[in-house]
Amino acid sequence: MLSNPVRVRAAVGPRFPGWRGCAADPGLRCETPSAYSRDGISLSGLGTTEFGNETESTKHLTTTNVHALTLTPDGPRFDRDYSPPRVRDGEVPVRVLTAGICETDLQLIKGYMGFRGVLGHEFVGIAERGPFAGSRVVGEINCNCRACELCGAELGNHCPHRSVLGILHHDGAFAESINVPQHCLHVVPDSLSDDEAVFTEPLAAAYQIPQQLDLSRFDQIIVLGDGRLGNLCAQVLRHSRPHVLVIGKHPSKLALLDDVGIATALLNDVVLERTADLVVDCTGSPTGLTTACRLVKPRGTIVLKTTVAGDSGPSLAPIVIDEITLVGSRCGPFDRALKALQRREVHVLPLISARYALEQALQALKAAQTSSNLKVLLDVVPD
Ligand SMILES: [Zn+2]
Ligand SMILES: [Zn+2]
Repeated sequence: MLSNPVRVRAAVGPRFPGWRGCAADPGLRCETPSAYSRDGISLSGLGTTEFGNETESTKHLTTTNVHALTLTPDGPRFDRDYSPPRVRDGEVPVRVLTAGICETDLQLIKGYMGFRGVLGHEFVGIAERGPFAGSRVVGEINCNCRACELCGAELGNHCPHRSVLGILHHDGAFAESINVPQHCLHVVPDSLSDDEAVFTEPLAAAYQIPQQLDLSRFDQIIVLGDGRLGNLCAQVLRHSRPHVLVIGKHPSKLALLDDVGIATALLNDVVLERTADLVVDCTGSPTGLTTACRLVKPRGTIVLKTTVAGDSGPSLAPIVIDEITLVGSRCGPFDRALKALQRREVHVLPLISARYALEQALQALKAAQTSSNLKVLLDVVPD
């Protein structure tokens, strides 16, 4: 672990010495980025993309193997010589700068979704092609077909043909490069550091709650769980509703919420009474829903943010008896999350508790599994 976990990169300007940027030239006819040559990585240029403007020279570039953290049948493995998939039509190779480890990654390791390949779906990087070439970008994780009925109804996150970055049939961001559909990319405003931008994906997931529910209907709100997502959900909810209480197990994590004026309580100190109009389960635990049922009023609402490996669920009888509304909630609006980061409506930097180089990714995963850590970052391109 580096001594100071919170580091704010310069938000503006070229990332690599000697790199003059390619924004005006999606064909990648830029100066060779010294960091690329130093790391032995070529600019991937296989195949034809929908941009259709590669030069002859880029067409012949081959994709060099990269450093990557992969999930194998034997568990996670750091691979110094990983052969990345070719860049498919409509995709943009993104040079990863920083990536974040999330609870979903830890669940994938335990067998959730049966995923194999490069882990990681929270990242900020530099687009190497397309309209955003040379710019810092973040990426929505659902790579949908844009042709089916659900995609046509603007429900692409539920496209049955989708792949999901680092989660389902698509390599993720714990690697030097990730291929992302152009339509999933968002340019990062210059005013945001990499360390802030890497929170866009989980923060967007938190903003999915106000997207799904009219929060003005709820007076007493409880967020269960003081971890990464619980913190972000609480901050988002508190922004529009006055009575938000976070119940957690870790005094140090609850203290971060106290610091931003959000009421907190330790689970052991709480008398479980059914007083909440809305409970948001961010525990990452199969028991979260059971606890939520003991806190929500009859006819109240529970939002489930937890995805866990395994099928063992709680008894659903209380849901029926008390006519509870259950709302599953997953990915959310990136534009809203970027706006909130820009306006400093949500404080994300205090969540960074450790950071590691990509080469130390196995250590980083171990750190993310310890209860003392909140957000663990991987520095893919060192400063
Ligand atoms: Zn995540
Ligand atoms: Zn579709």
